[in-house]
Amino acid sequence: MRGFGKYWGWAVFAVLIAGWLSLDFGPVALVALSGVCGFYFFFNVPVWCGATGRGGACRNNSHGALMGCHLRQHKWQKFRMIFWSSRWAQLRQELFQDASTGLASVGGLFAVTSGLAATLQPLFGGGW
Ligand SMILES: [Zn+2]
Repeated sequence: MRGFGKYWGWAVFAVLIAGWLSLDFGPVALVALSGVCGFYFFFNVPVWCGATGRGGACRNNSHGALMGCHLRQHKWQKFRMIFWSSRWAQLRQELFQDASTGLASVGGLFAVTSGLAATLQPLFGGGW
């Protein structure tokens, strides 16, 4: 079960997709699932750090598309770039540095979008 312990977020993600497709869950469940997925992809999924340093992209293991590795300098580097628009080009490069990180980033963005969509659902004729 060790492997599953690392990749549990994908199971939640699958449930979230199924929830949207069947539209059977209700917005509260969708918002909750989106929150859990977003947390997983941005802060928990196993990926490479990828923070740009003097020696190029960092190759240490890290958790979450937005978090760096154990090096303190890398830890919040990507997260901080969100609030620093002149670094967005670099952030995008680091979030899509390879297939697994890109997938995690796309999953995280989807989770955020799905959370917003579920929250705004009443405005589009859906109900809470
Ligand atoms: Zn690093």
